[in-house]
Amino acid sequence: MPEGPLFRSAKKNLALVKNYEPGKPLEELEREYGVKRAVKLASNENSLGPSPKALVAAKKALARVHRYPDGGSFYLRRRLSKFLGVRPETLIFGNGSDEILVMAARAFAGKGDEVLIADPTFLIYEIASRAEGANVVKVPMKNFHYDLEAMRGRLGARTKLIFIANPDNPVGTYIQKGPLLRFLKAVPRRAVVVLDEAYHEFARQEKDYPRSLELLKTFDNLIVTRTFSKAYGLSGLRIGYGVARPEVIRSLNKVREPFNVNLVAQAAAAAALDDTAHLRRTLRMVKEGRAVLQKALTALGFAVVGTATNFILADAKTDARILYEKLLRKGVIVRSMHAWGMDTFIRVTIGRPEENRKLINALKEILKKEPS
Ligand SMILES: *Cc1c(COP(=O)(O)O)cnc(C)c1O
Repeated sequence: MPEGPLFRSAKKNLALVKNYEPGKPLEELEREYGVKRAVKLASNENSLGPSPKALVAAKKALARVHRYPDGGSFYLRRRLSKFLGVRPETLIFGNGSDEILVMAARAFAGKGDEVLIADPTFLIYEIASRAEGANVVKVPMKNFHYDLEAMRGRLGARTKLIFIANPDNPVGTYIQKGPLLRFLKAVPRRAVVVLDEAYHEFARQEKDYPRSLELLKTFDNLIVTRTFSKAYGLSGLRIGYGVARPEVIRSLNKVREPFNVNLVAQAAAAAALDDTAHLRRTLRMVKEGRAVLQKALTALGFAVVGTATNFILADAKTDARILYEKLLRKGVIVRSMHAWGMDTFIRVTIGRPEENRKLINALKEILKKEPS
């Protein structure tokens, strides 16, 4: 794209901002490649679909869309506050939890400030921080785990914000309670820590997965974010939330758009919390699918990274972009990890049994044709 005068008149730091490349939408694949019945295992969505209870609530809410939504999300706030056992004023809602990450960057990181993140991690942290003009300090992971010792070593007078994804995306591993606690104790209180728990529902059964809401009692500089996009199956409605001390929530609210969470999403999210059966089905599907995919990928020669989520990172030991393209032609969308600089890795979402089987069969056909 030619960079004309209007590009140059945008804020200087935007030149450093990479565009987020989302997983390919199903319709786009079907349109571009003419394949039918394609399968998307690229964006860690819930392949079982939305909770039926959430759908009923969403349809009912549609009749009211000539009105603005409740900017304070009153009913959802009350419902979630009971569900989590936290006070209503400790909650904030976002148009996806993405938006809360962006609000955190807007509220806490500016020109000259440093934002500390791991590498690889969720790409939005860097994008949101650079858009605010902050510098981003990246600390490489060690053996696919956060290197919290090294991150401690990079804390400095300019550190204003730290993003930790637990579990991490795209890696899938998680930080246990002990190491996280030691790290939080080392962070100066003027720096804010965002603990992104987008995969909390999948990870919370794991050994020593931190109880982050308990940590909020000790650490007043913590923001815990979660989402309805993953386990709850509401990615398309865009709704997530943050939990933090009221003082922190007040700052986030200053940069929040007044009607950021739409009325259909508010109603659906509240109903989804009641649908424990759908969540249970989802967790079972992921647990079973994880074992099947890990075994099959390993048998196909991939090096598979252990995961506490609904996705698997795997080293294909071959150009991941080419593999990704070949899978597209067979009607399977995965994520190539080249945007993260991991040129031989793919990330696959754990889907329904027939979707996982379609991926495995496609990989078998592709890899069979290549001399190893
Ligand atoms: C998917 C994801 C999110 C955000 O999802 P939303 O749909 O915006 O709620 C946030 N963090 C991580 C690590 C994710 O993988």
